[in-house]
Amino acid sequence: MKAHDGMYIGGEWRAAVGTDLIAVVDPADEQVIAHVPAGTAEDVDAAVSAAREALPEWAATPPAERAAKIAALRDVLVARKDEIAETVTAELGAPLPFSQSVHAGVPILVAGSYAELAASYAFEEKVGNSTVYAEPVGVVGAITPWNYPLHQIVAKVAPALAAGCTVVLKPAEDTPLTAQLFAEAIHEAGIPAGVFNLVTGLGPVAGQALAEHGGVDLVSFTGSTAVGKQIGATAGAAVKRVALELGGKSANVILPSADLAKAVGVGIANVMGNSGQTCSAWTRMLVHTSQYDEAVALAAEAAAKYGDRIGPLVNAKQHARVRGYIEKGVAEGARLVAGGPDAPREQGYFVSPTVFADVTPEMTIAQEEIFGPVVSIIRYEDEDDALRIANGTVYGLAGAVWAGDDAEAVAFARRMDTGQVDINGGRFNPLAPFGGYKQSGVGRELGSHGLAEYLQTKSLQF
Ligand code: NAP
Ligand code: MG
Repeated sequence: MKAHDGMYIGGEWRAAVGTDLIAVVDPADEQVIAHVPAGTAEDVDAAVSAAREALPEWAATPPAERAAKIAALRDVLVARKDEIAETVTAELGAPLPFSQSVHAGVPILVAGSYAELAASYAFEEKVGNSTVYAEPVGVVGAITPWNYPLHQIVAKVAPALAAGCTVVLKPAEDTPLTAQLFAEAIHEAGIPAGVFNLVTGLGPVAGQALAEHGGVDLVSFTGSTAVGKQIGATAGAAVKRVALELGGKSANVILPSADLAKAVGVGIANVMGNSGQTCSAWTRMLVHTSQYDEAVALAAEAAAKYGDRIGPLVNAKQHARVRGYIEKGVAEGARLVAGGPDAPREQGYFVSPTVFADVTPEMTIAQEEIFGPVVSIIRYEDEDDALRIANGTVYGLAGAVWAGDDAEAVAFARRMDTGQVDINGGRFNPLAPFGGYKQSGVGRELGSHGLAEYLQTKSLQF
């Protein structure tokens, strides 16, 4: 695959300071498909300098002009959507139709939403005898994971640019080609030099250098809770703004009045999409004891039907980790009703769609984020029991509630300690704030709430 051998800094592709390379692997066949440079602290420093230099002019650019540039970026993403989908499929392994509709499609929607918000947002308001201005926070250090490689970049860069911030991005080592493609799109859209900069590299080297850099005003991180805690601590020590989108262990709560077959079918599809590598995936299915056996049978059938349509996991480490969790589920006494720990193919990091029944809330597979195609079906006795189980993890990112009518589902959802809940299979909304309660994170992405993360307020009194 096509790859750049440098960093995108100050509007051009510059040679990396070091000589180390990252091999990019296709997880479907385990072959190396490209190499990109592994950035160092010096590369990060150069990128932050470029972002600082570009900041005053971009911050002073009228919002309507920033909006026009983001619209141009969206248009380039539209024009190159097939290439985006092919690139994500090559380095993440997602089946091509899923890459086309989700990995390429969603970032286009989000970029479009910020083109509109940049133009319409109230960056200035009157409060009594004051005028309050929403000003850009400054230089943003963005650190993104591999699971939705382009979405997670756009969900940070588009609102940052709309706010008038400049950005240095450190993408995941597993999916740098999508990030390089995004840098090309930024260039093609005519976004001024230094407003967006890309340093590929390893988390503990380039990522850490970016999070610690004194020239960065806000760190926006998406990834594991373990690394998120470190980044939050580093930012806190420097009195720096931070946004954290971390892990999840979301509950799919099926109340007895719900359409059981629909709730189970959509619930299984929700987890199997992207091979279970979705932070908001509803990996715990909560079913009333009276409907438990029927739900288990439906879930096993739905997972088995998924079979070959599922893509591989991203890398060998995740493959081993997820299979280890499945073995742990068996060891702790859960009952496998679909899939299992055996690799279904000789080549590629594949795991079969897996469903566990007889899972109790304290089991490891019901508490920890597995990040693979694994669903745990948990029995509840009554609504209070369901609520206790739903809220009984350290996470609170997302969830679903199904009931005979929306009002009943809403009443339950309001009692959940979680940031986003789909009611009776509610549709994706690119303007809805996304982010976690509890250890699932700090801050929100998407829509006007996501834009506000990149702003700070100044009030003038008259
Ligand atoms: P991760 O290590 O947290 O990676 C996220 C990003 O942070 C990557 O760009 C990573 O770089 C970087 N990073 C790693 N260590 C860093 C450090 N010390 N300082 C600054 N940046 C650092 O996540 P992962 O290793 O890819 O996946 C591990 C687990 O995290 C998964 O199994 C899953 O449970 C969870 N996860 C959650 C999400 C989510 O959306 N909430 C996304 C991905 C993973 P490298 O790519 O070089 O590691
Ligand atoms: Mg990592």
